[in-house]
This record gives sequence, structure tokens and C-alpha cells, in this order.
Amino acid sequence: MAINYWEEEIETLPRAGLESIQLRRLKKLVKRVYETVAPYRKKMDAAGVKPADIQSLADLAKLPFMVKDDLRDNYPFGLFTVPMDEVVRVHASSGTTGKPTVVGYTQRDIELWAGIMARALCCAGAGKGDIVHNAYGYGLFTGGLGAHYGIERLGATVIPVSGGNTRRQITIMKDFAASVLLSTPSYALNIAETMDVAGVDPESLSLKVGIFGAEPWSENMREEVERKLNLKAVDIYGLSEVMGPGVAMECLHTDKGMHIFEDHFLPEIIDPDSGESLPPGELGELVFTTLTKEAFPIIRYRTRDISRLIYDQCACGRTLVRMEKVTGRTDDMLIIRGVNVFPSQVEHVLMSVEGVEPHYQIVVDRVGNLDTMSVQVEVSESLFSDEIRKLEKLSKTIQHEIKDLLGVTCKVLLVEPKTIQRSEGKARRVIDNRKI
Ligand SMILES: [Zn+2]
Repeated sequence: MAINYWEEEIETLPRAGLESIQLRRLKKLVKRVYETVAPYRKKMDAAGVKPADIQSLADLAKLPFMVKDDLRDNYPFGLFTVPMDEVVRVHASSGTTGKPTVVGYTQRDIELWAGIMARALCCAGAGKGDIVHNAYGYGLFTGGLGAHYGIERLGATVIPVSGGNTRRQITIMKDFAASVLLSTPSYALNIAETMDVAGVDPESLSLKVGIFGAEPWSENMREEVERKLNLKAVDIYGLSEVMGPGVAMECLHTDKGMHIFEDHFLPEIIDPDSGESLPPGELGELVFTTLTKEAFPIIRYRTRDISRLIYDQCACGRTLVRMEKVTGRTDDMLIIRGVNVFPSQVEHVLMSVEGVEPHYQIVVDRVGNLDTMSVQVEVSESLFSDEIRKLEKLSKTIQHEIKDLLGVTCKVLLVEPKTIQRSEGKARRVIDNRKI
């Protein structure tokens, strides 16, 4: 298979060359935000660091972190580095509490983003001639429009279908002969299931690759989606605070992580408790500094995503570091009777059990002073209509496997197919009823 690069020179640059570009851009960025954005200047002054102190990439660790609260505190446009008449677009992510976090882009930011997203699509083997069904939500969420501009830049055909109305999506995918599908992994499963009900054979579609992101998903989930939609599933990473989709992208030559577009986004892994930088290869919280964005650059943004960096040479020839599939988020983490539990770990267990469907919900409660966790999971039609004894055995198996992997005892409730609400965007995996 010929390798598809968008900007071959930069994507295959030896590390020394890459690092010198990163350092040059970092110095410029730190100076610019210090001079133009009061909240950055205040934070840097409080930490006793000046732009001139940044002389190597390791000096990055001297700079203070940014967290989601910094965005909320400066709502809506307080962290922008350019006057509003240079901002051509804003996006916002809905927070679960309070005000949304708002990000902005200059014309040049939008152009850079389109190019970076085109690079990402190339990693998945997409190119001119592809029909790309873009089921990411359009609107304030960065997913839809972010991918859209990249698809156009690539020269492929974009179908801007957005989320929802799944039956119509299937008709469009089939009739327009879409070759690439972009959506959240949970919505991809929803599409697969709706196809099954409507009697549409995945073989009758023209899909070859699915680019799924915006929520953590397990390797077992990948196999499930690949099988049900008859395509190759690859992972994409992004978040609005850093840019949107296209910060990192899995290539077709590895299943071990996504290439980070490091000439634009400088990654670090830190210990989420102490904030200390961790050595290469360690698992920890992912932190990003944007190197090229104009309107809304961000320095040392704590993503809350748990990952590790992989520096081994990739078979595709790209020298860009890879980040391992996100296994959870520090703020998604549930603490059940003192044990850290990530929904993705539960998913991993469920997907490895025969007869279990990829639809589940974790319900956490507090009874007296004791936390309880129960897992509701759908089982296949045939299994559900089987003897009670078999269902009991299955629920015991799942319970045992979860206890084995996570060290937590939970109740397992097997439910009929189609009981759990379907996602048209990001799936709601956890219901936490604890009042703490
Ligand atoms: Zn690669």
C-alpha cells in the first residue's frame, strides 16, 4: 500500500529538526501571550517565569498549567490574543456545569486547521475521489465544521450530514456511495444497529474506513464496529481547547496510537496528582501547548485524558510521536469504595463476553455510606429469550471478570436489546446518583 502523506517533509522530519521548529515556535508564542493576554501574564508573574526563561523545550515545565476553569474565568473572549475583528469563527463546548468554554479562530487558524485535518484524513488513507459522510455534529461543537473544512481541503467530497435521523443517514450513505464515515464510535454502532433493523447489508455500502473520535472507546469496541459496518476503524483525537478534531490521528500502519501533529501541538505527559512531567513512555495525563494558533493559543493545557507517548518508529515512516488510545479521563474516573474505575475498563470487560451487545450504562449510587455500582448491559435477542439459568450464569461471569480486572464488586443487570438509550453524539455511559 502506498503511503499517503499530506506534507511528507514535515511528517517524516528527523526529531532534531522537529524539535528546533517546536522551540522556535514556543519562544515566539510565550512572548506573544505574555505581552497580549493579561491572565497569562498574571499567571507567569505569579510563577516567577518570564518569556526569556524559555530557552529549551525542557523549560516548558517552568510555565504554569492551564485548566478548564481558566477558560471559564475568562469567559467568553478573555484569553484571545487578537482583537475580535480578526476572529472569524468561535466554537464552544458545553460544560456539564455553568458556562460553556469558548474558543476562537482567525482566518489563518481556520486555514491551518483545514490543512492539519487534511493531514489526518490522509493518515486514514482518504484522498481526492473519496465521498466522506461527516456525521459529527455541526454547530458550536468543533467536530462537524472542523472535519468539514479538512475534507474540502483534501479535495474529497464532503456530505455534511451532521448527527441524527439515522435511517436517512443510511439511505444517503448507500445512495451517495460514501467511502469514509466520520462519527463518534457510539453513533457508528447506532448506525450499524439501525441498518440491521432496516435489513441493510453492510456489504451493500461502499464504506472502506471509519474515522471515530470525540469519546474514549476500547479495542473491543473497534472490532465490533469493524465487523458490523464492514470497514477499517481508526481513531482520531482532538479537543476544542486545543483546536478541535485533528490534534492526533491513527495511521493505517499501526494499531498502537495516534500520530500527534507535533509541529502544531506540543505534548507532555504529567502525573495528574503532582503535576510533575513524566519520563517518555509513562502513563499519565496528557498536556498540550499549541504552537501555531493565533486567536486562541493555549499553553500547557491539562486535557484530563489519560494516555502515554510512543516514540518507536512507525511503519508508515512518519516520525511524529504517537499517543496511545485514550484509556480514560481523570475527571471521568469514578471512585467506587476507594477504587479508581474508568468506564472504558468496564467496556473492555463487557466487549470480551460472548452474547453481550455494545450498549451499556454504569449506574453509581450511595446506599447508606456505601457506594454501589451496577452495570446495565444489553444481551443478544437469542440469549435473552434463552433459559433464565443461562442469563444468570452470564451475569455471574461478567461480575467475576469486572471484579477480577477492577477489584470492585458490582451488580450486573442484563437487559433486553434496545433498552438502553442510543447515542446520536457522545454516549452517556455513566449515571452517578451519589449526592456527595
Ligand atoms: Zn504511522
